[in-house]
Amino acid sequence: MVNDFSYIDENLRIIRERAGEAFAKYRNSGDKLRIMAVTKTVAPEAVNHAVSLGLDLLGENRVQEYLSKKDFYEKSAEVQFIGSLQTNKVKYIIDSVTMIQSVDSIRLAETVSRLAVKSNRVIDILCEVNIGGEDSKGGIAPEETGDFIERVSQFEGIRIRGLMTIPPPCDSDIFLGRMQELFNTVSEQKKSVVSMDTLSMGMTHDYAEAIKYGSNIVRIGTGLFGARNYDIKK
Ligand SMILES: *Cc1c(COP(=O)(O)O)cnc(C)c1O
Repeated sequence: MVNDFSYIDENLRIIRERAGEAFAKYRNSGDKLRIMAVTKTVAPEAVNHAVSLGLDLLGENRVQEYLSKKDFYEKSAEVQFIGSLQTNKVKYIIDSVTMIQSVDSIRLAETVSRLAVKSNRVIDILCEVNIGGEDSKGGIAPEETGDFIERVSQFEGIRIRGLMTIPPPCDSDIFLGRMQELFNTVSEQKKSVVSMDTLSMGMTHDYAEAIKYGSNIVRIGTGLFGARNYDIKK
């Protein structure tokens, strides 16, 4: 039997339409915006269908799951890591992802740096910020972001491209706005050490708002692939 993935076509059509509306309304035409397909719990066949529709960026949360699926992915898609990452697992992903969005400790940054240097490459990273100050989430405190970036910018093998966040689900509007402010402030303050061009925020429930507040990568899972069988705690 051939799988029917037409629901993905329809979901993506809606996402592109809404994202396009928000972009046209709030952004400059030269701004960058990418839609990331977040693949957790989704079968590689469905992921590849999304790739065939032009989505060229995949987001991975869990090392184990990623390793079990990556050989089945369409090679044309770029993969970035977006989940919480233990230092002892970096070695499994470093050679096949183009960016790690979820760097939130000096220890993790050090490990990424060491392994990147060993593989003779430079890896892009984002610093994950816990903009809502929630205990349940990873990320550095907003007020520590500038210092964190300053320190990490000195590590070899790492290029800091910007910030990532998962705002609290309620009032995400307020937090998305704060995140945009933080991004602008830190980019300006640290421009002698880093050149930041990427703000990753916005998921299924808030991507249109995130685009309004300057997001360059919206990360969409359920809105594209439908409800997950199980949910992954961040
Ligand atoms: C699961 C996940 C998403 C996508 O969430 P949806 O609500 O399914 O769109 C985005 N970012 C991260 C870090 C995630 O873990």
